[in-house]
Parts: sequence; C-alpha cells; structure tokens
Amino acid sequence: MSVLQMEDVAVQPIAAHPKTARVLIVDDNTVNRLMLSNYVEGLNYAAETVVNGQEALRILETEQFDLVLLDVEMPVMNGYEVLEQLKANPALRDLPVIMISALDELDNIVKCIELGAEDYLPKPFNPVLLRARLNACLEKKRLRDQEADLQRKELAAMEKLTRLKDQFVNTVSHDLRNPINTVLGYSDLLQESLQDSTDPTTELFLNKIRSSSRHMLNLVNDLLDLAKIETGGILELQVFHLGQFLQERYEEFELLAQQKGLNFSYQPPPIDRKLNIDTLRMSQVVNNLLSNALKYTPLDGTVTLTGSIHLNQNGSGGWALIQVSDSGLGIPEEDIPHLFDKFYRVNRTEHRAVEGTGLGLSIVKAIVESHGGEIRVESELGKGSSFIVTLPLESL
Ligand code: ADP
Repeated sequence: MSVLQMEDVAVQPIAAHPKTARVLIVDDNTVNRLMLSNYVEGLNYAAETVVNGQEALRILETEQFDLVLLDVEMPVMNGYEVLEQLKANPALRDLPVIMISALDELDNIVKCIELGAEDYLPKPFNPVLLRARLNACLEKKRLRDQEADLQRKELAAMEKLTRLKDQFVNTVSHDLRNPINTVLGYSDLLQESLQDSTDPTTELFLNKIRSSSRHMLNLVNDLLDLAKIETGGILELQVFHLGQFLQERYEEFELLAQQKGLNFSYQPPPIDRKLNIDTLRMSQVVNNLLSNALKYTPLDGTVTLTGSIHLNQNGSGGWALIQVSDSGLGIPEEDIPHLFDKFYRVNRTEHRAVEGTGLGLSIVKAIVESHGGEIRVESELGKGSSFIVTLPLESL
C-alpha cells in the first residue's frame, strides 16, 4: 500500500464533479490534514479542516457539508465518539462519514460500520482507494439528496392538492346543499298548500320529488363527510368513557327503533375505561351502524348495541370493542369483501328496496382507521349481521 504524496493528488481533477460538494476533514495531525485537503481539492471538491472532534461537531451544527473524513485516533474526543454523536443527531444522522485509521484491523472496521460510518479508509492513504471511496460516497449522497428533494416536492404538491380539495369540498357543500334544501322546503310547502285538493297523480309526483331530493341531500352529505375524512383533517380528541358514549348513541336511536317495531337493547361494558376519541366522528360510526341495522332489519327483529373492554395481560393497554348486531336481512358471503367500498350496495331486491347511498360503511371504515382501529363484519344471509369495531385503548 503506497503512502500518498502531495504531487499525486494535485494533478487529478475530475471534471464530472463540479466544486459543489463540501468535505470536512477532521484530523489532529497537521500533515494528514494538509495531505487530505490537497487531495480533496485536487478532486475538485471544497475542503475544510478542523483539528478535533469538538470543533467538528461545532462546525457541523452551523454549516452544510456533504461528507466527513473522520480520523479515529484523536485526543479529547476520538472518532468513534464523534460518529456516535453525529448519528444520534437527527439533523446530522444522514451525513456520510468515512473513518480513517492506522489500525487496519477487522474489529475496527466492523465497529465503524456498526456505528453507522459509510466507509473506512486505512492509513497510510492509498490515493486510488481514497478517490474511489470519496467519489462513491458523494455520488450516493447526491442521489439520496435528489430523492429527498423529490419527496419534499411531492409532499408540497400533495399538500397543495389537499388544500384545493378542501376548498372544493367547502364550495360544493354550500352550492349543492342549499339548492337541494330549497327544493325540499318548497315541495313540503306545496304539499301542505295542496293538502285537501291534491289528486293522486300530483301526490305521486310530489313524493318522487321529495324522495329524490332527500336521496341527493344524503348523497351530498355522505360525499362531503368522506372527502373531509379522507383529506385527513385533524382528529379533535376528547376523553370519554365507552359506556357513557354508547349510552348516548343508544338513547338517540331508541325512539326510531320503537317506531319501526324492533327490539332494541344496549349491553354496556361490564368494566369500563376512558377512550381518547373524536366523539363527533365516532358518533357517526355508531350512528351509521345502528342506522343500517334498523334499516335492514324487518319488523319484530332485534338490534343490539354492545360495548366491552379487553385489557392486555400485563394490565397496560388493550382495546375497546363496539358491536352492532341485528337479526335482519344479512349479507351474502360474496358481498362481504366489498362491503366497505364506496358506493357498494348488496344487489338483492330486499336490500335495494331500502334507501341508501352505499357510502355509510366507507365513512365508518375511514373514521375507525383514523383512530387506529379496525372494523369487521360477520353475517349470514337471512339470519342477521354483526359489525364489530375494535379501538386501541391508549394509542391515540
Ligand atoms: P347504504 O347507504 O346503502 O346503507 P352502507 O355503506 O352503509 O350504504 O352499506 C353498504 C351496503 O351494505 C348496504 O347497501 C347494504 O346492502 C349492506 N348492509 C349494510 N349494513 C347492513 C346490515 N346491517 N344488514 C344487511 N345489509 C347491510
């Protein structure tokens, strides 16, 4: 292995690499610093030198470098310690480091690589090896930076798109909802004013206008909800006991279930725990599931809302379970994998006879997943269905 001579290095500029890369040389030995910096400059990179690890860390905090050539044996703070500190610092973790040491032993090389060094160079320097490693390292760094830059640009474009989508959703929400509400309002008024004198055909037409407008309003509301959730708005978390939360949902649906002639019951959790949930959105989950259970269960059927808490064996953490079960129409096995897809509806006469948009369950799934939870369904055609939501107790 030849020792690097000054003359060797001065005559090997590499045109392909403009002087954009900055290399920091950390070495307590004056001759080594001079040799390395000559060599680096000879390769057409900009070189900066410091005499110890502390100075290296100080300059790296404030200035931008593309590569560090770091001597292993230095007083005050050796190269391993400097490397450890660099790797522990999120702002400097990705900066490539080539370790330089006279100790050309496998143990040292392994230790450097384990600590996160990009490469290792033995002393005395071999100019060919030094050039190859320096170039390879800087090229890798350039590609990494390029990729990170691309990712940053993609993220910025996504954020812009999200903002545009938000604006669009708000505009649509206002521009579509208002006229539909107007149609609904005036058809109600028309029906009232024609009450006694209405002939059956007018009555039929009016009912069609009203049910179509209601369907359109539901569709717009569901689409807006879904767009808002998918845009990933921030969850407004509140602490709620599962039992109390479900009790309120139950009370909301009690009267409707009674009017539909269903046996509706609530089984509160035997042990209770606090949940960190966006109550408005989680209410939408339980409401959608209960509303489906009530819609797809014929007269005299049963609908049950159940809550339970399952703690992990070690006592910390666990999950909450919310289950909505009914004895209604049930769902054919082949439909189950698609049930949470947008606009998916079971294509059977009994199911189609019930008004719906096919969006409720996709909203449910999106909300549950935004809480770190899961939803699954168990069902048998003609016997009934169970929708089961699990939510982590402490992850939010
Ligand atoms: P929809 O507005 O049509 O009810 P959902 O997304 O809530 O939309 O549900 C998708 C489809 O899943 C429904 O159209 C229905 O066919 C089926 N479904 C949902 N819940 C039940 C249930 N409890 N019993 C039977 N079928 C159900």
